[in-house]
Amino acid sequence: MQKHTLTNADLISRSLSAVWHPCSQMKQYETFPLVPIARGRGVWLYDFDGKRYLDTVSSWWVNLFGHSNPRINAALRDQLEQLEHVMLAGFTHQPVVELSERLRVLAPPGLGHCFYGSDGASATEIALKMSAHYWRNSGHPDKTQFISLQNSYHGETLGALSVTDVALFRDAYGALIRQQATVASPDSRNAATGESAAAFALRCADALESHLQRHHAQLAAFIIEPLVQGAAGMAMYHPAYLRRARELCDEYGVHLIADEIAVGMGRTGTLFACEQAAISPDFLLLSKGITGGYLPLSVVMTTDKIYQSFYADETARGFLHSHSYTGNPLACRAALATLDIFAQDDVLNSNRAKAALFNHIAQPLREHPAVYNWRNTGMIWAFEVHSKHADFAQRCFALGLQHELLLRPMGNTVYFMPPYVINEDEMRLLATRTLSIIAALT
Ligand SMILES: *Cc1c(COP(=O)(O)O)cnc(C)c1O
Repeated sequence: MQKHTLTNADLISRSLSAVWHPCSQMKQYETFPLVPIARGRGVWLYDFDGKRYLDTVSSWWVNLFGHSNPRINAALRDQLEQLEHVMLAGFTHQPVVELSERLRVLAPPGLGHCFYGSDGASATEIALKMSAHYWRNSGHPDKTQFISLQNSYHGETLGALSVTDVALFRDAYGALIRQQATVASPDSRNAATGESAAAFALRCADALESHLQRHHAQLAAFIIEPLVQGAAGMAMYHPAYLRRARELCDEYGVHLIADEIAVGMGRTGTLFACEQAAISPDFLLLSKGITGGYLPLSVVMTTDKIYQSFYADETARGFLHSHSYTGNPLACRAALATLDIFAQDDVLNSNRAKAALFNHIAQPLREHPAVYNWRNTGMIWAFEVHSKHADFAQRCFALGLQHELLLRPMGNTVYFMPPYVINEDEMRLLATRTLSIIAALT
């Protein structure tokens, strides 16, 4: 790699000619340039001129303990000297065994079997296939449909898109997808005036119940993002919905798939969001933060009951799904180092104190007249902004860069999902500069 000769401008123009960037209308980079990043340290990303940006979105919600974390780096260096990769069909290795054992202890009870994928969307695919295949193996071949919440996001491969309800990502591919039904989201912004978040959640659960009553014979699973629907614009809801959903899924014989790809690994204040409803799902999906934001890895955890339905003499009864990099040792080792940090640094308690502190520091931002629907769950904050600009998100992103902040609003929703290592000074900088940006845009 030529390192010494690179400049910001060089890298931008070469990238635009050779790299097709994700989630982008490439032409918009004419007006809102790419941001070249040379290196990262803690919550900061640096370009080739040494200009820095506070990574308030944890690089698409993956980073937990900062960029270039010394402990994760050391674990990966050590692993590199032993084994970079081996296929997991027919072979096994220490990092994947240790990770599976540790996740089993940490996860809600009953999820003793770990199946690995390479990214979040593949975890969704695995859970959907495993659920339907379980029903087929158990003499219910008609249970092949799924439900998700309105505005749900579970990834963008074709199967995952079928349970994703974000029109912008889905509509161009409508003809390719077997679209699944959605039920009302318990998003507490939609509660009636005077109605509590819990009461609204239960009212939405009634809609789920009537859907299950009518369709349970064809339904394999209900897939849900517990507590926070991320891509919906950080829509937060009361855990009463999850408790009721668990009861209803049991009553109607439908699997509950908890997609904790974004909300797992401490993001909502507990290691797993399901803990706040004291439920165990039939499938728990993890990715994003599982490796501390270092390497692609996903895990589908499931129950012994589901596992046993595949365990038989016939090959075809088994779960024959695979990805080349399934259970990659480096990725598993990064995940183990991440779990070590949770244990050694008492991260969940220290995050609780940080969240309280940030809520205090951000009071002036919260009270700005253009800011409404301020909300917080664990280490996620979000609010909407009254703005006359149709391109508010892009303007906010551009102004953010001028203020050393990497902000990526969704529509008029601004959110913060910072790495857990953010300190008090960085929190103050984030709150005061966001306030200036909002003031400038309203
Ligand atoms: C990001 C995300 C996914 C998809 O993960 P990828 O690694 O981007 O494929 C699925 N579900 C949720 C809730 C997510 O936030």
